[in-house]
Amino acid sequence: MLRYSGFRLAYEALRGHRGWGPAWRKAAPKASYDVVIVGGGGHGLATAYYLAKNHGITDVAVIERGGIGLGNVGRNTTIIRSNYFSRENIRFYDFSLKLWEGLEADLNYNAMVSQRGALNLVHADGQRDLLARRANMMRLEGVDTELLDKVAVKRLVPLIDTENGRFPVLGGFLQRRGGTVRHDAVAWGYARAADARGVDIVEQCEVTGIRREGGAVAGVETTRGFVGARKVVLAVAGHSSRLAEMAGFRLPIETHVLQAFVSEGVKPLIDLVVTYGAGHFYISQSDKGGLVFGGALDGYNTYARRGSLPMVEDVLAAGVTLMPGLGRLRVLRQWGGAMDMSLDGNPIIAATPVTNLYLNGGWCYGGFKAIPAGGFTTAYLVATGAPHPLIAHFGLERFRDGRVIDERGVGPYAWAH
Ligand SMILES: Cc1cc2nc3c(=O)[nH]c(=O)nc-3n(C[C@H](O)[C@H](O)[C@H](O)COP(=O)(O)OP(=O)(O)OC[C@H]3O[C@@H](n4cnc5c(N)ncnc54)[C@H](O)[C@@H]3O)c2cc1C
Repeated sequence: MLRYSGFRLAYEALRGHRGWGPAWRKAAPKASYDVVIVGGGGHGLATAYYLAKNHGITDVAVIERGGIGLGNVGRNTTIIRSNYFSRENIRFYDFSLKLWEGLEADLNYNAMVSQRGALNLVHADGQRDLLARRANMMRLEGVDTELLDKVAVKRLVPLIDTENGRFPVLGGFLQRRGGTVRHDAVAWGYARAADARGVDIVEQCEVTGIRREGGAVAGVETTRGFVGARKVVLAVAGHSSRLAEMAGFRLPIETHVLQAFVSEGVKPLIDLVVTYGAGHFYISQSDKGGLVFGGALDGYNTYARRGSLPMVEDVLAAGVTLMPGLGRLRVLRQWGGAMDMSLDGNPIIAATPVTNLYLNGGWCYGGFKAIPAGGFTTAYLVATGAPHPLIAHFGLERFRDGRVIDERGVGPYAWAH
């Protein structure tokens, strides 16, 4: 693999950039593999990379129906953080944050990891109590967090109207190690590094069926023919329930669209990520200057990956109430991604009822930040057959046994997440 470096960049600049090759091969599917991963998003590609790197399993194909980076991994608002409430979730997401911190050196790829800080706003006394408890849990796990008063919030983000009548701000909850990562560079970086270790990345190839023999998976039917596999991983984001149906079982997952927006580029206005659950609005500024923001789910089930007009009204109203200065900006684009919404709002990384068929899905709003840890632990599960200790709580049996994860105090009510 060609190594990227300052020296290489200078050398290529002097000879007209003629020496750069493609970042990964355009592989055609072979007749069979040890492991087939369905879905060339962040989780599928990271799983392939860690299978090769950590477990020496390189006879692997990632099968993607479109192109690398066109799914949710390239549609999200790029926020990374580990400010969770339950001990298990803090450990999992902070492991991911630690992998983000070393990712660029590991992959030899500039993913623009930017730990600019993630700030949640507080609008009510009850919310402050909950966030204080969350902060205490994080500190007990050795994870950074700070509670801020209103004055400190205003100092950090002068654009916020802390006295606004609809969502007056009482304070904030800040994780300085949180931030953003250039989302499609994550897909490209993992694709390149997996390819360099021998993984076949097969694009423009849709999985249309899952073949089973005697209760175990035998391979996948695709638009480019049958591909045999000893083990298969489903990492298809908003389409997990469709793929599970092909394999003959049902999942406690609904599919919804989640939307995001970007404004025209402006000079630096907001230098961290700001979120507020009360109005469901979050915002950060991209390196190009556009303000990237999003809101809540559309309240109906759909596989359509497009925006809707009511959400424009809802998200912009919440945003402009909080930051009146945003009203001067033009919105350039709006888009959507199909999301797996699991019954308890938490992911599933687990073996399925079909032997040797594994699932990485149910990411709801938050699977981007989990990509390194999701790939790492899925690879461990596939290689060893046992869940990594960090994902023991993400099994499917929790839905059957009624031991769902109550991360936000709303229990097993999909619409409340
Ligand atoms: C608007 C929006 C904002 C978000 N913001 C954040 C955020 O700020 N922070 C955060 O942590 N998370 C965020 N998320 C969630 C995050 O993007 C997802 O949880 C995560 O990217 C999902 O995992 P993935 O990267 O593997 O998915 P994807 O990139 O969607 O990968 C799945 C792939 O499977 C492919 N596929 C599907 N069916 C088939 C098939 N039959 N055959 C072959 N291939 C198939 C798809 O084409 C797709 O490329 C956001 C999501 C959206 C939509």
